[in-house]
Amino acid sequence: MNSVMQTYARYPLTLIRGEGAHVFDDEGNKYLDFVAGIAVNTLGHAHPAMVRAIKEQAATMLHCSNLYHIPKQIELADKLVWLSGMHQAFFCNSGAEANEAAIKIARKHFHDAGSNRRTVITATNSFHGRLLSTLTATGQDKVKIGFDPLPPGFVHVPLNDIEALKAAIDDHTAAVLLEPLQGEGGVNLADADYLCGVRELCDEHDILLMLDEVQTGIGRTGKMFAFEHAGIKPDVLTLAKGLGGGVPIGAMLASEKVAAAFSAGTHGSTFGGNPLSCAAALAVLETIENENLLNSVNEQSARLRAGLQSMVEKFSTTASVRGSGLLLGLACSDAVAPVIELCKAKGLLVLPAGPNVVRFLPALNIKASEVDQALATLEEAFAAVEASEAGKEVEK
Ligand SMILES: *Cc1c(COP(=O)(O)O)cnc(C)c1O
Repeated sequence: MNSVMQTYARYPLTLIRGEGAHVFDDEGNKYLDFVAGIAVNTLGHAHPAMVRAIKEQAATMLHCSNLYHIPKQIELADKLVWLSGMHQAFFCNSGAEANEAAIKIARKHFHDAGSNRRTVITATNSFHGRLLSTLTATGQDKVKIGFDPLPPGFVHVPLNDIEALKAAIDDHTAAVLLEPLQGEGGVNLADADYLCGVRELCDEHDILLMLDEVQTGIGRTGKMFAFEHAGIKPDVLTLAKGLGGGVPIGAMLASEKVAAAFSAGTHGSTFGGNPLSCAAALAVLETIENENLLNSVNEQSARLRAGLQSMVEKFSTTASVRGSGLLLGLACSDAVAPVIELCKAKGLLVLPAGPNVVRFLPALNIKASEVDQALATLEEAFAAVEASEAGKEVEK
């Protein structure tokens, strides 16, 4: 045991270097990386555009207080606003902080309007972060145990059940906060019809629709933002993970009527939107555009999905393929930990999403040959697991 608090059950693996879609451990072993820092390393490892942007910014200015204007921050806000159709951006350092800012601005918006609306409705199995506010917003009990008293004002409803949402909205509801595609909660897609229905309900009651795109944003689902698939627009949008391509940054964007609630002195962050993190995020956005990566995500998603689908037909322990873009899940009837372990031994890093889903989150610039290699390794792993299961049956 080392001096780091044991908040993570870590794999016994030490990764020290990355190059493109590959990472290397401290013994020189090479792995194909379908984790990408949990949807963070948008452009893979050591992309020249990222290295250049970070080097240049480090030599110019690493940090500057938000008490002054920061040109790279303004440039990034302009770009995100233009891409998303939101009005203004607030920058912080993580997904949880972006969601905390969303919850705060929703409450402040109704406070300023002289309304009592304060509560936020979220989905069961959602994940919104580990701050007291965001773990309370999270629709999973396991993140809450031991941290009471929890802040009041959060209600959970099942995802994709419009009637349940309708029944949950009352005179105190300020906002609905949803992931368009739940990542941590098991790769569960919010149906486009459902999201359209939620948008209508929010308009009808004059409450806010806030989308947590911390995992799905910045091209992950094949559009810049997952909400574009449903043809709707939120009032508040949160981003983090893939935005900085590995440099910590979070963002909360809001429509014009909502953004006004964050006036001078109402919220802040020392590091939020500092020159280094904004330079990195700008390099991510420029490279997505220059290398036509949204197109690439859609192509490689189709390739990966087809390969996973053929595995569903081949192996009895696999049940279905779900997700969107390069946030795909392979749902299984058994626990997936042994498959993930075998993949690692064979040089492929993948993640679980809950106990029964293998999650795939490669960099957006993953190549066809790398997708094929990942599929071949995964297939070997499933074949080995099924053979050992069959062996156990024979022994009985
Ligand atoms: C990871 C995640 C968060 C939390 O982000 P942190 O940067 O770990 O605070 C919030 N929402 C979603 C959807 C996430 O996937």
